[in-house]
Amino acid sequence: MLNRVVELQKANEELIRAKEAAESANRAKSAFLATMSHEIRTPMNAVLGFADLLHSLVTDPKQRGYLESIRSSGKNLLTLINDILDLSKIEAGKMEIQYEPVNLYAIINEIKHIFSLRIAEKGLDFRVEIAKDIPQSLLLDEVRLRQILFNLFGNAVKFTHEGYIGLCAKKIYQHEDRSSLDLVIAVEDTGIGISPDSTEKIFEAFKQQDSQTTRKFGGTGLGLAITKRLVEMMRGKISVKSEVGKGSTFEIVLHDVSVSATPARVKAEENFDDEKILFQPCTALIVDDIETNRNLVKEFIRDTNIRVIEAENGEKALALAREFKPDVILMDIRMPGMDGYEATKQIKQDKEIAHIPVVALTASGMKEDKEKIARTKFDGFLIKPVNRSDLFKELSRFLPYSESTSPEKASGTSEAQKQIGEVPAEMMDKLPEIIEKLEKEFTPWWKSVRENNSIADIQNFGDKIKAFGEQYGIVNFQKFGDNLILQAKMFDIENIGATLESYPKLAEKVRLRQAQSNRSEK
Ligand code: ADP
Repeated sequence: MLNRVVELQKANEELIRAKEAAESANRAKSAFLATMSHEIRTPMNAVLGFADLLHSLVTDPKQRGYLESIRSSGKNLLTLINDILDLSKIEAGKMEIQYEPVNLYAIINEIKHIFSLRIAEKGLDFRVEIAKDIPQSLLLDEVRLRQILFNLFGNAVKFTHEGYIGLCAKKIYQHEDRSSLDLVIAVEDTGIGISPDSTEKIFEAFKQQDSQTTRKFGGTGLGLAITKRLVEMMRGKISVKSEVGKGSTFEIVLHDVSVSATPARVKAEENFDDEKILFQPCTALIVDDIETNRNLVKEFIRDTNIRVIEAENGEKALALAREFKPDVILMDIRMPGMDGYEATKQIKQDKEIAHIPVVALTASGMKEDKEKIARTKFDGFLIKPVNRSDLFKELSRFLPYSESTSPEKASGTSEAQKQIGEVPAEMMDKLPEIIEKLEKEFTPWWKSVRENNSIADIQNFGDKIKAFGEQYGIVNFQKFGDNLILQAKMFDIENIGATLESYPKLAEKVRLRQAQSNRSEK
């Protein structure tokens, strides 16, 4: 008997030791992943940033194509790193849900806004149905809810080629006092659908539908794994109903969501356009130990009135801040010698320079870092890789500026919108001929090219449609053809897909033009 007790005790101790070892290994894994992601993101910062800058300098279409590949692969890599980091943080229990008053209508509007162009380019409809009686302010984690909806929406758009994307939200009260509710949000699409044996699997990490060739749609298979875990962390459930070839509906139910008495904060800067910002003459101190990082920021603000001074560590930053009293300081965090935390602490303790706003430049997404940044008296922070728009937005919080209204800079039209071209006036009498060619020749051809996905066919189709565009002076078809030819030559499968999907919209524009001219003739 005694032996048995001793044995059990021993086994218990071993179990506890094993559990502790496993937990410590898991923590080590998460710390390793976080460090690695930091190490990868820093050079990616330079790669993406400089590719961004080159974009305006390179005009040769082939070179532009190469550059686009660098940019899109870089962005994919960054998404992958961020996803892996998210998942490892969730698994190591490091991700916390932070509840705050949130306005669901505002989030859905924002999503609508972000995806509207892609939806329009694919010629899809967008149906939104939000129950009017959902309270304006609910206690939710805004960042995570946005991430969930973003993933579901992104998938719906990606896997749908015709029809519509629907978003519907409603609430169910569980208690008489109406202090909390169950929130139901569904994202519906009329896309390719999911086979019954895949509906469970797709929620696992790195899993996609069996039949799906990764190359065709890209992606990593991490989005839904993260989404499911986030939903569960918010006391919710996610489910999917789908039929192959008909479409899918992903539904999330968040239980016991509290209704907040405090109104949700509304973002004022939604329509920020960095192209319009004209900074007045002022000085910025850029602190970073890596020269390319400093050069990148310098390049972004090269054509502005901002004068730049530089430091590669905390000590030098402090000395320059005291000597030149810059109007703003961009401060890297991790630097050899005095790091960004310490330098900022000393700046804020020095009465002469404490007023200078210090913006943290951080490459890390670790919670510890965010907390430390929050504790240190930074005035703002930017996550690397920094892009021009975020940089200008942050700088505009601290530096005086005016807004330009010059038409070419301030038009606010995106590339995709500019590409929607018209049939030139002198070709209007050829409209019926143009439409007939589109309907009888190009549209059926486009359908078969899209199904077969043969590079030679795609290139041939590109050649012919470019010639068609040239014949009738329709710039969009010329551009469309040019893009296809180039992408086919470079085997740029991912972008070929996106380009091909923009065809229906281009054809539709021409038909609309005819409808307009018929109406004006009547
Ligand atoms: P990814 O999209 O990066 O592959 P996800 O985890 O978001 O990763 O999705 C996993 C897989 O689930 C997708 O590759 C696809 O096979 C399937 N899937 C997700 N959403 C849809 C949808 N709306 N329609 C069809 N299939 C989908």
